[in-house]
Amino acid sequence: MRQQSPYLEMEQEMSKRFNGSCACGAVTYGFDNEPTFVANCHCTDCKRASGGEMATFALVSDSDFTVFGGETKGFPYPANPQTCAGNGLTRVFCVNCGSRVFTNELADFPGGVFVQEGTLDNLTDWFAPQAEIYTWSRQPWMPALDVPQHDHGVS
Ligand SMILES: [Zn+2]
Ligand SMILES: [Zn+2]
Repeated sequence: MRQQSPYLEMEQEMSKRFNGSCACGAVTYGFDNEPTFVANCHCTDCKRASGGEMATFALVSDSDFTVFGGETKGFPYPANPQTCAGNGLTRVFCVNCGSRVFTNELADFPGGVFVQEGTLDNLTDWFAPQAEIYTWSRQPWMPALDVPQHDHGVS
């Protein structure tokens, strides 16, 4: 019988099929199953939280999503029908570097977590958006992708 190294076992627990981290590397996470939904969100909350015109996020199952380490803080957004906050959610970031890593407590997607694709470790792990949402607040200079476009959320 082969002896399992305890370090190997630990290493296995610290990574999944898809992995990501914040800018300083303190917060690390992973998930095994491909997201069930991926969107570019052009809402004003995503603009403010990301600092960019839009944010790309992937919906993964809460039971699959694991934070391996690092201290996070959640900032709750109250219900807002004009943004992807919808009936409320919490955007979670690293307390050290401020990277926004994921979004949880999704009132409209119970049992799910939105992973910010910008925090994925491998560029080849990015999932292409299947839709663009909250396009009512898209900037006129930002061209639409060839995917379904939604003024607000996906109902
Ligand atoms: Zn960090
Ligand atoms: Zn949004």
